[in-house]
Amino acid sequence: MAVGLQTFETLRDASAAVGRDPSARFLGGGTLLVRALNEGTADFSTLVRCTDRILTEVRASGSRVRIGAGVTMEAILASRDLAFLHPAARTVGGPAVRAQATVGGNLFAPPPYGDFTAALLALDARVSVQSGYSPRDMPLDELLRTRDTMGRSIVSGIEVARPRDARSFRFLKVSRVRPKGVSLLTVAARLEDSAGRLSGVRVAYANMGPAPMRAAAVERALEGRRLERPVVEAAAAVAVDGCSPPTDAIASAWYRREVLPVYLSRLLLGGA
Ligand SMILES: Cc1cc2nc3c(=O)[nH]c(=O)nc-3n(C[C@H](O)[C@H](O)[C@H](O)COP(=O)(O)OP(=O)(O)OC[C@H]3O[C@@H](n4cnc5c(N)ncnc54)[C@H](O)[C@@H]3O)c2cc1C
Repeated sequence: MAVGLQTFETLRDASAAVGRDPSARFLGGGTLLVRALNEGTADFSTLVRCTDRILTEVRASGSRVRIGAGVTMEAILASRDLAFLHPAARTVGGPAVRAQATVGGNLFAPPPYGDFTAALLALDARVSVQSGYSPRDMPLDELLRTRDTMGRSIVSGIEVARPRDARSFRFLKVSRVRPKGVSLLTVAARLEDSAGRLSGVRVAYANMGPAPMRAAAVERALEGRRLERPVVEAAAAVAVDGCSPPTDAIASAWYRREVLPVYLSRLLLGGA
């Protein structure tokens, strides 16, 4: 099947082009879309790319950082402003994949992918979305809940607050093949405290459902409490609430449910 490539200088024009053509897909770094083409499984006949600089910029201002959706994992690893995201970016594929894989593409990558997105979710990221000619902002978890119906929109960037200190943001990707195997499951957590009690807790998973997700029951079990063993045990007891993990070549859904509480506890207790 012949596939056309259209290039636009502005996000508005690229978004309008994706919006008018149901068979068009927005092209990030192409690690998934071009692989689908090579494997003959592409369900699109047009790829739309955009050269707008906004997609590849990283802007840090005070405690907040805006990352263009076209920024690659390799570029994140080269940025000192984004050092807190290095542990997550480093786990995405091998060097060749990281040189192409974008932040925006990771938001739409199906299981077993989406490791970087779990980190962004735990940081309470907001996304800027362009639908046709209209831009809007929304929480990342809202985008992820509706991403299958968002095919006509382009994400232009993601904004996060830097964690207060390195210990308060934790990330764990569990895989059977190291260093670059795909994820069995991924857990990320923001654990900031106020006077010794957890405040504004965020816990997120990848590969425990059809898209990266927040672990709302775990967040509730931790919020306002001290990070001590009985509290961690209470959080682990509700770790799989709301999860519907996949069964794939890496592991069964049953196995993922069994091991998630163990890895969550290790991450929370700091021994991951
Ligand atoms: C060998 C290999 C290993 C991999 N390992 C990992 C891994 O360990 N962890 C992991 O998380 N992923 C992994 N991936 C998956 C993938 O490389 C990453 O998820 C990557 O971040 C996807 O980004 P991309 O720019 O290449 O996406 P593309 O292939 O360009 O696009 C993927 C999807 O996202 C959409 N999209 C892209 N950008 C945007 C945007 N700005 N707005 C709206 N939609 C957009 C596209 O339309 C398409 O539907 C791997 C892939 C391969 C081939």
